[in-house]
Amino acid sequence: MKKIVSVLMSGALMLLLSGVAMAQETGAGYVASKGGEKFHVVSCPVAKKIPAEKLVKFASPEAAIKAGYTACKTCNPPTSADALVATKGGQKYHKQSCKMVGNMDTANKVYYKDAAAAEKDGYKPCSVCFKK
Ligand SMILES: [Zn+2]
Ligand SMILES: [Zn+2]
Repeated sequence: MKKIVSVLMSGALMLLLSGVAMAQETGAGYVASKGGEKFHVVSCPVAKKIPAEKLVKFASPEAAIKAGYTACKTCNPPTSADALVATKGGQKYHKQSCKMVGNMDTANKVYYKDAAAAEKDGYKPCSVCFKK
């Protein structure tokens, strides 16, 4: 009996892991549970408990909010109002109000909660919107 339980458990774990791996492969940084209320960053412990068959993926917080989800209080994903934006493969990060953001391809946007997080990924402040 014990053996069956452990086999079931490892099966569930595999499903969970493959779900998270899939989300990362497609470049989706945000996930939600079908029928749920909150969306999460992929690394959120709550997000990791979402069963693979219920996992909904979003490329940006904007997309998740548009779909009716609100930000999870545990992982506190950057919401479109206060987040900084960069482009995948780009060099600079911007405030949302920057005129450069309007030219960005939505699918390539990466969101950061603050400048420190963006710089950790190698982005530099935009000289237009971060002019002193
Ligand atoms: Zn979360
Ligand atoms: Zn800018």
